[in-house]
Amino acid sequence: MSKILFWVVIAVVVYLAVVFARSRRSREERRPAVRRRRDPRAPVAMIECPQCGTHFPEDEAVLGDGVAYCSERCRKAARRSQKRPQQ
Ligand SMILES: [Zn+2]
Repeated sequence: MSKILFWVVIAVVVYLAVVFARSRRSREERRPAVRRRRDPRAPVAMIECPQCGTHFPEDEAVLGDGVAYCSERCRKAARRSQKRPQQ
C-alpha cells in the first residue's frame, strides 16, 4: 500500500512541476517587447522616418496613425500635409 502512495506522490510532484514550468514560460512569452527594451545590450532596429528620411532607433519612434516618425515635428508635418492634400 505504501508503494502505491509513493507513486501517487511522485506523479503529483511531476504534474505540479510541469504546470509550474508551463505557466512561467507562457508568462515570459506574453511580454517579449517589454523584455527586449529592458535589456540595454539588445540591438535596436533602425527605421526610416517617412517624413524627413532620417534613420532613427525604433524605440524612440513617435507614432501617429500607425506610422513611426523620428520626432513630434515630423508627425505634425505629416498630419498637416494629410489635411491639405495637393491636387
Ligand atoms: Zn523625421
